Amino acid sequence: MKSSTDLHDTIIAPSSAPGLGATSMIRISGKDAISKANEVFSGKNLTEVPSHTIHLGFIKDGNQLIDEVLVSVFKEPTSYTRENVVEISCHGSPFIVKKIVQLFLKNGIRLASAGEFTKRAFLNGQLDLAQAEAVADLIASDSEAAHQSAMNQMRGGFSKKIKELRERLIKFASLVELELDFGEEDVEFADREDLKVLVNEIQVAIIRLLKSFELGNAIKDGIPVVIAGKPNAGKSTLLNALLEEEKAIVTEIAGTTRDIIEDEISIEGIKFRFIDTAGLRETTDIVEAIGVELSKKKMEEASVILYLFDSQEYTKDKTTLIEEIKKIKTKQKPSIIIGNKADLIPNINTLSELAIFNPIYISAKSNNNIEQIKDLLLEMTGSNQIKTADTVVTNSRHFGALTNTHDALNKVLNALDLNISGDFLAMDIRQSLHHLSEITGDISTDDLLDSIFRDFCIGK
Ligand code: GDP
Repeated sequence: MKSSTDLHDTIIAPSSAPGLGATSMIRISGKDAISKANEVFSGKNLTEVPSHTIHLGFIKDGNQLIDEVLVSVFKEPTSYTRENVVEISCHGSPFIVKKIVQLFLKNGIRLASAGEFTKRAFLNGQLDLAQAEAVADLIASDSEAAHQSAMNQMRGGFSKKIKELRERLIKFASLVELELDFGEEDVEFADREDLKVLVNEIQVAIIRLLKSFELGNAIKDGIPVVIAGKPNAGKSTLLNALLEEEKAIVTEIAGTTRDIIEDEISIEGIKFRFIDTAGLRETTDIVEAIGVELSKKKMEEASVILYLFDSQEYTKDKTTLIEEIKKIKTKQKPSIIIGNKADLIPNINTLSELAIFNPIYISAKSNNNIEQIKDLLLEMTGSNQIKTADTVVTNSRHFGALTNTHDALNKVLNALDLNISGDFLAMDIRQSLHHLSEITGDISTDDLLDSIFRDFCIGK
C-alpha cells in the first residue's frame, strides 16, 4: 500500500550535519532535477553528461555569478531516491546556500519537507521502512555501538531477518488458504505438525529479537548507572573521575550537589549514562533516602547501581555499613560495591568482613582503580553481547510490531492445539503476517509514514 501521491514534483534542500556549522551541499531530486540545474549552471550541459559524474562550473542567476560549484549528477533509477538527483557542493556560506536555494525555488522547484528524500527512497523501493528509519538513527548516532547497529539496520540486516521469517510463514499460509478453496472436501495440504514446528521456531526468533530491544535501547540511549551512597562517600569525585572532567561540583560540605547530575561516557564504544543522586545525601539512612522521590525514580531507571562507601566507615561502624550493603544487594538489580578513599586505609585486607560482597577498592580522588569499575560495568551489562549481537531491535515501532506478531502467532499455536478449522487458522496466520509486514513497510499507512519521516531533518 505504498502511496505515490507526493512523487510528482522536484524538491530541493540544503543538507548538513547537525552541529557542524555551515552547510555546503544542496540536494535536488525529481524528474526535473537535472534540467533545472542545467538552466542555471554554466559549464557542461548537465542533461547530456553520464550518471555519477561531477562537474565544475558556475551557478548563475541571469548574468550574476553566485558561486563556483561542483555539481554531481545521478540519473534515475540509480540514485538515493531512485529519481534524478543533483547535488551541488558550494562554498560553505549560509548566504550562498540561501541564494542558490532561492534561485531554484524561483524556477519552480519546491522546498523538501523533513526526511522527504529518504521517504522518496522508500516509496520508490530503494529502501524498506526499517532501513529508512535506520537512516535517521545513523544521523543521530553518537557512539560506536549506536553507529554500528544503525549501519547494520540500514544495510538491511534486520529487514533480511524479518523477511526470512515472513517468507517461511507465507508458504504455509498459502497452503492453508488453498485448503479453503476446496471448501467442503476434507483436504489438508498444510501438515499441522510441520506448521507447529515452524511457528515455534519463528517464536524463538521473535523472542530473541524482542529481548534484544533492551540492548537496543541501551545502544541508543545509553545504559543508565546510578551512583548511590552516603553523603561525603565521594560520589561526585567518582563521577568526575569516571567522566574524566569536572562536571560535578566537589566540595567539603555535605549536600552541595543540588541537582541530579547526569552525564555520559563511552566505554569501548558503549554509552553509559551516569546519574549522581543529590537526594541520597539528604539523609544518612540509605533506606529513608530511597524514599526521596527523584532518587527513587533514578534508582528504578538505572540498570546498575554503583554503591559507594567511605572505607573508613568500616572501623567507625562496621555493623551499619554491612547492613547497608546488604540492603543494596537484596535489590533486584546488578550492583557494584565500591570502597572509596582506600588511600586513607593502611591495609585494605583488614576490611575482611566485606570480602563476601566482592568490593572494588578505589581512590576516586587520585583516580586509582577507576578502570576496574569500567571493566566490571562492561561485563555486568552484557555489553560485549551488544557488540556481537548481529540483529538488535532499536526501534520501539518494530518492538510493537514484533510483540503483536508474537501474540498473533500464539493464537496460531492455540488454533493448532484445538484443531480449529482452516479458515480461522488462516485468519490468525494472516494477522501475524500483517504485523511482520508493518516492520519493513510492505504494509503502511500515510499516517505512519508521516510520523516516521517528520522526525528527520530537512535535507535527508
Ligand atoms: P559525595 O558527597 O558523596 O558526592 O562526596 P564528594 O565527592 O563531594 O567528596 C567528599 C569529600 O571526600 C571531598 O572532600 C573529597 O575530596 C573527598 N574524597 C573523595 N574521594 C576521596 C578519596 O578517594 N580519597 C580521599 N582521601 N578523599 C576523597
